[in-house]
Amino acid sequence: MNKRTFLKLSSATIASPAVLRLSAWAGADKLTNWAGNLEYSTENLYTAKSLDEIPAFVKKQFKLKVLGSRHCFNNIADSKDGFLSLKPLDEIVSLDAQARTVTVDAGITYGQLSPLLEAKGFALHNLASLPHISIVGACSTATHGSGEKNGNLSTAVSAIELVNAAGELIQLSRRKDGQTFLGSVVGLGALGVITKVTLDVQPSFQMQQYVYENLPFAELTRHFDEIEAAAYSVSLFTDWQNQRINEVWLKSKIVAGKTFDAPPDFFGAKRATRNLHPITELSAENCTEQLGVPGPWYERLPHFRMGFTPSAGKELQTEFFVPRRHAVEAILAVERLHDQVGPSLLITEIRAIAADNLWVSPAYQQDSIAIHFTWKPDWPAVSKLLPVIEKELAPFNARPHWAKLFTISPQILHSRYERMPDFIELAKKYDPQGKFRNDFLNKNIFGS
Ligand SMILES: Cc1cc2nc3c(=O)[nH]c(=O)nc-3n(C[C@H](O)[C@H](O)[C@H](O)COP(=O)(O)OP(=O)(O)OC[C@H]3O[C@@H](n4cnc5c(N)ncnc54)[C@H](O)[C@@H]3O)c2cc1C
Repeated sequence: MNKRTFLKLSSATIASPAVLRLSAWAGADKLTNWAGNLEYSTENLYTAKSLDEIPAFVKKQFKLKVLGSRHCFNNIADSKDGFLSLKPLDEIVSLDAQARTVTVDAGITYGQLSPLLEAKGFALHNLASLPHISIVGACSTATHGSGEKNGNLSTAVSAIELVNAAGELIQLSRRKDGQTFLGSVVGLGALGVITKVTLDVQPSFQMQQYVYENLPFAELTRHFDEIEAAAYSVSLFTDWQNQRINEVWLKSKIVAGKTFDAPPDFFGAKRATRNLHPITELSAENCTEQLGVPGPWYERLPHFRMGFTPSAGKELQTEFFVPRRHAVEAILAVERLHDQVGPSLLITEIRAIAADNLWVSPAYQQDSIAIHFTWKPDWPAVSKLLPVIEKELAPFNARPHWAKLFTISPQILHSRYERMPDFIELAKKYDPQGKFRNDFLNKNIFGS
């Protein structure tokens, strides 16, 4: 098979070396998402080995979804008909040092790109908790890290190239395309096959990470703004038990050689004396270096290291974004549910995300706090808890993470996104017949 061929993965082709490599990525038998809580509705998986082939391939398909690194917990990436993977297309296309941008193929992950950028003296503004995820899948779902001055990962996108349903190549940029661009970056996989993405970069920087244990809730509610402002990126981990934040992760930039002055006491929390996992009982082997040891941005911004299983492994995830101004009230609303939530929860993480202008980003035009739940893999129990949490957070118009589990109705969802009608129009322009739609998009976005 040559580089310009689309491979169809099926049991009939399983003996080919190229297919074996891909089937290992896809999982042993059934094609599932990373967490294994979702078995995809088809095993028709095509992989593009050359960008040139994509327009004609897309044009020919009746229905199609692009599969990224499969890290979504809900069915946003699912298809009953066929998947296209761009995983082999993982090169840096160009690095423009003067414009401070990098353009990459759509199959690349943050874990692949980051060390290459660092070697050239550049950095990204932020990363999610793990580097294993595809850049395009992450930006399409408004994936974020933490830091009250940091927009989500999609805010670094300055241009995209996509193939629309007709097989036409469309180039959109922040500079040229105004609102259309702002509507397209968090595209939920509904606009087309993104083939290239350009990201803003900045000069590389060093960071250090400190973890503090047992921050009393009373201190959190009294000093929330000071705590969030204490570092470049702040993550608060709690199991909602005993009125405390179990762990506070502070990630600070080292500027002009000046390091973070890490006091032994931080609002009543004590500086940890060993590396910790966000779930204190678990080994910190898969976690990024702590204890203030300086290191490059891409080895400190994520919580989890490349080459290891991130997070807990077998788990489900949920996350809700509330306006920053309601952060303390929203946190206290969830805290009141501690008895109900406790038995199903592995850990909660609370992060800050700066406002952006991307139409269906959960941080659209509002500085936000995201309250995240890593659940035990028990969907029957979690599915009963979600409406309870969603009800508590309803007064704050909470927006759910597009890649995680939620039960908010499409009507309510739409009421929380003022640009949703514009987004639907935009999606229809690039995909009038719904080639890229699936059950998730039909239910939550297109209302059919
Ligand atoms: C352990 C773990 C930790 C996580 N931590 C975080 C976190 O810190 N912060 C956070 O916000 N989220 C987090 N997430 C959620 C998740 O990482 C993202 O939303 C995810 O990165 C989506 O990217 P993907 O490529 O894996 O998605 P996929 O599930 O493969 O795809 C997601 C969507 O993007 C579309 N898509 C992918 N590639 C293309 C393309 N080339 N063209 C068009 N559409 C495309 C798909 O069709 C689908 O609609 C975490 C998930 C896991 C499993």
